[in-house]
Amino acid sequence: MIGKMTSTGYKTLGAVVVTVAAITLAVAAFTGVGGDMGQSLPSRVTGKRANSGHTIKVSNHALTHRVIYAGIRAPYEDEQGHIDAKERNEALIAGRDLNLRYDEQFRDHKDRLMAYVFLDDGRMVNEMLVREGWAYVRLRSGTQRHAQRMIRAQSLARKEKRGIWAHTMSPSDEQFYPVDPMFAEFHLPACEVVQKLPESRRIDLNSKDEAFGRGFSPCDKCKP
Ligand SMILES: [Zn+2]
Repeated sequence: MIGKMTSTGYKTLGAVVVTVAAITLAVAAFTGVGGDMGQSLPSRVTGKRANSGHTIKVSNHALTHRVIYAGIRAPYEDEQGHIDAKERNEALIAGRDLNLRYDEQFRDHKDRLMAYVFLDDGRMVNEMLVREGWAYVRLRSGTQRHAQRMIRAQSLARKEKRGIWAHTMSPSDEQFYPVDPMFAEFHLPACEVVQKLPESRRIDLNSKDEAFGRGFSPCDKCKP
């Protein structure tokens, strides 16, 4: 037998290992961050259906998971382009094998997996939807790994007036546009969300162009 550890020694070591694992899990559960450390995060899945342009249902080993795309946001139900974005998303993922990749932030407040979704040919669905004009870039804190390619895809979509960019945007006629970088949204100065936003976190930008260029998406309440 290799080693001379007593059975008591093994028990102590076992308890330490279990304790460390428990603390690590508790911290991860509390913060919702930790990169790809969670081995339980599913990576190889099958796309089932799209609930919107940025949320899907997937399955692996008879388990179903809800996934929200990292780094983007598509139009919500009351916004123009919602149906088109959802249909395009569904066409891209339904019945396909998908590879989920994670960023620092890998769950949202509704406990959905927040992921980058890759097809087997290497294309990233999140980026494709932005490139085709069916989603805004939304670089929340902890979801900025692919910031550059996302912003580039969006600037091309805007230039070509694809999807949600087909209609001329109302001019930037506010004095400034307040931003909450944590949630990567920009607002009208009078928005109720801005009133609750801590001053220390708030950034004021001069135009909507600047906000889009930095990966902030429009607030769905004040619709700037
Ligand atoms: Zn707002």
